[in-house]
Amino acid sequence: SLKRKLSNVFSVESGVSGSSDTGVKVIVRMRPPNKNEEDGEVIVQKTSGDSLTILGHSFTFDSVADATSTQDDIFHLVGAPLVENCLAGFNSSVFAYGQTGSGKTYTIWGPANALLEDDLCSDQQGLTPRVFERLFSRISEEQNKHADKQLMYQCRCSFLEIYNEQITDLLDPAQGNLHIREDIKTGVYVENLTEEAVCNIKDVTRLLKKGLSNRRIGATSINMESSRSHSVFTCVVESRCKSMDGLSSFKTSRINLVDLAGSERQKLTGAAGERLKEAGNINRSLSQLGNLINILAEVSQNGKQRHIPYRDSKLTFLLQDSLGGNAKLAMICAISPAQSCKSETFSTLRFAKRAKAIKNKAVVNEQ
Ligand code: ADP
Repeated sequence: SLKRKLSNVFSVESGVSGSSDTGVKVIVRMRPPNKNEEDGEVIVQKTSGDSLTILGHSFTFDSVADATSTQDDIFHLVGAPLVENCLAGFNSSVFAYGQTGSGKTYTIWGPANALLEDDLCSDQQGLTPRVFERLFSRISEEQNKHADKQLMYQCRCSFLEIYNEQITDLLDPAQGNLHIREDIKTGVYVENLTEEAVCNIKDVTRLLKKGLSNRRIGATSINMESSRSHSVFTCVVESRCKSMDGLSSFKTSRINLVDLAGSERQKLTGAAGERLKEAGNINRSLSQLGNLINILAEVSQNGKQRHIPYRDSKLTFLLQDSLGGNAKLAMICAISPAQSCKSETFSTLRFAKRAKAIKNKAVVNEQ
């Protein structure tokens, strides 16, 4: 069966053969104005390759992708380096952060119709299908280049959602709420989470479609389709290499693509009752992410050790490696150009600025 459970993953003690102290790569992407905003006031005054000025305040990041940026531009900025990092043995993550409607989903997966219509050539395709197209073509390239070494790759994907501090397997939602476990060999994992082997881009888009159609969508008074859940698509890439003299080596790395819940303050939405409780829990993962980013930025700057409360939310527990740990992290902060989104846009830019200060410690997992 192609289906494997994460808890049974073949694991190795990781030997360190390379390491690098890397900052979080922060990219701000501004979407184009939508129909309702076209006639309204646009508050972004100036953007260049790495900075933007908004109502007289200037911010500088690794890159600023303005309203004319294409999905392919984002792939070149974030996706292509991610694939190379992954093949070099580094765990690599991308998070999309921003208020509902700012373009997170569009950036990470693409517009729903492009995926559903299997339109792989569409220039609207999001980062995820592009990353896997590149990953599989680079894998064949590596195999051809090292044909004498019997280079074998295995890729396995899982797709989950965190909603209301509960974890759902998007490839098998009937399982109900899943639990995070941790052991010395496998590290942090989700018990019973479905993992499927993937060999080509078709396998990946099939899983993406299946998972995205199982996602939960909550309606609030501010936006009928506001995404109140965090979705995490993960691929474990293992490579085994046997040389002529019979020596073999084993490398494993992980790609996480994360579409976060909308970062807007919940009081704006007029939520009440169950919805408000939900909002509190959704905020737990997001506000904990914000807290950790503050703490990690501080630790990276002053070098003082301190306890990092990863376990205080599902999101930060599960993705602790990506936050200050063993991973290369890119954060895409999505913003709207509209005047009406001003305070949320400033809040996203402040978050982005703090994320920039974090240093991760990525090491290659090789044996
Ligand atoms: P979020 O996931 O942050 O809630 P979406 O990705 O759903 O936001 O984007 C909101 C709307 O704006 C969608 O209709 C989406 O297709 C459109 N959109 C977002 N970013 C872009 C972009 N860069 N170019 C064109 N349309 C975009």
